[in-house]
Amino acid sequence: MGNGESALRRVRACIAAAERARRTDEAQPVRLVAVSKRQSAEAIRALAECGQRDFGENYLQEALDKKALLADLTLTWHFIGPIQSNKTRAIAAHFDWVHSVDRIKLVRRLGEQRDPALGPLNVLIQVNVDDETSKSGAAPEEVGAIAAACAEQPTLRLKGLMCIPRPGNTKAFEKLAALNAALPEPLPDLSMGMSGDFEPAIEAGATIVRVGTALFGPRH
Ligand SMILES: *Cc1c(COP(=O)(O)O)cnc(C)c1O
Repeated sequence: MGNGESALRRVRACIAAAERARRTDEAQPVRLVAVSKRQSAEAIRALAECGQRDFGENYLQEALDKKALLADLTLTWHFIGPIQSNKTRAIAAHFDWVHSVDRIKLVRRLGEQRDPALGPLNVLIQVNVDDETSKSGAAPEEVGAIAAACAEQPTLRLKGLMCIPRPGNTKAFEKLAALNAALPEPLPDLSMGMSGDFEPAIEAGATIVRVGTALFGPRH
């Protein structure tokens, strides 16, 4: 069994245990996004051969280079990094999910630039739930307006909320879940939890976890 395979088994087993510890039993299964930034195309291929399908990337050019090398595989690609508005066209063309939408301008650009023939682009609104001025993410009070902007774009499908709290701030997961529950129509997905904290995130209601180093080891 390769390193990637044993790491994947370990992470999947932890996810399954955390799913059982969730406070609600009607919750959907957790989707594991393997965060492959600064990992090689070979490392992604090795994990894909073990059955992993969802991969997350932060840097557009790096992602496009690796996608080209992996074009023979059917994978689901998630863009999880900060978005510059001049990159939206390429993101809309090459990704299935975008987790880091935090302003209306990005919603409009992604919506207009997504080719309808590709099917809807799945969107998550990134929310700043720890009031850290340095972090990207919409303020909680902006979520309603960004969600309304998504509803005007038929090529986008608003799926949920995402957060990247500072390490150790597991209260942020509960905050994001509460923010979603308070929306007029709560969204189906919460993307929260990384290698160090995906278990408490799942217990708080994460439906998508973004795990890098626990699967791939240190980044290069
Ligand atoms: C890098 C990154 C991750 C994965 O972090 P690990 O600690 O390696 O699991 C998850 N989400 C985002 C947005 C990231 O940038």
